Amino acid sequence: MKKDIFLLDGANGTCLWAKTGDKGPVWRYNKLFPDKVVELADEFITAGSDFVLSNTFSANRPSVEPFDFNVEEIVREGVILAKEAAKGRAKVLLDIGPLTGLLIPFGKIAKEEAREFFGEMLKYGMMENPDGVILETFMDLEMLKIACEEAVKYDVPLLCSMSFTKYNPKKGGRTMFGNTPAQIAKELAPFRPEAIGLNCSEGPEETLPIIKEFSEATDIPLIYKPNAGMPKVEGGSEVDYNDFGEEVSKAALVPGVKYIGGCCGSSPLYIKALANKLETL
Ligand SMILES: [Zn+2]
Repeated sequence: MKKDIFLLDGANGTCLWAKTGDKGPVWRYNKLFPDKVVELADEFITAGSDFVLSNTFSANRPSVEPFDFNVEEIVREGVILAKEAAKGRAKVLLDIGPLTGLLIPFGKIAKEEAREFFGEMLKYGMMENPDGVILETFMDLEMLKIACEEAVKYDVPLLCSMSFTKYNPKKGGRTMFGNTPAQIAKELAPFRPEAIGLNCSEGPEETLPIIKEFSEATDIPLIYKPNAGMPKVEGGSEVDYNDFGEEVSKAALVPGVKYIGGCCGSSPLYIKALANKLETL
């Protein structure tokens, strides 16, 4: 494998739904099905992941509070379970996704509230000493920057990743809020992130041109973690694992790309196919 590429993991959400037969917020599984959470992380590492993400994506207070759990137990447990699976074979990133809803004036979330919710996840997550923090699937650069402001209070590597809408060759890659790769790179640079880039979005084919835009816009190392296409009604994903490995590995040849993995729909089988393909580069 190209020496300067690290393999991330695949999807926690879709894979844990499949493993537990349960639907609903997957962070609950840190308490309800901890062995399944460990099992999935272990499968990703066996498939070749150098990094796994804690199962804490949307374990923020507004999401957790309506259930009979609290943020501290869910977030701390998420990091503990990932480390238990890793057993030193892979690094663990504290995973934080965006809040559900939009910031004022587009929605109802006040900036200071968002700061408090991200700060709380970070405080509890960092108690379990993850190797870094990943802020991912953000669609609004302003919300991501609030999370960054809280994350840089801790002295660990920070990875920042946004989700993009369908690629438009005329306008280039854009998030739902219209943020472009060049703008994202410029506005995140002051936080000195270890890496920036994209995850989830519309699958490998739609996102390769976007990671190329990042590559042209910045010298910051890049993250490429697309989903396996859109989920199919009958189950599974649009892109099968061999095609996924083939398509996603192309990003390894884009200058600056350092972290590669999969998002929604990508099971350990997808990560294995990707690892195999990367070996041949
Ligand atoms: Zn996703």
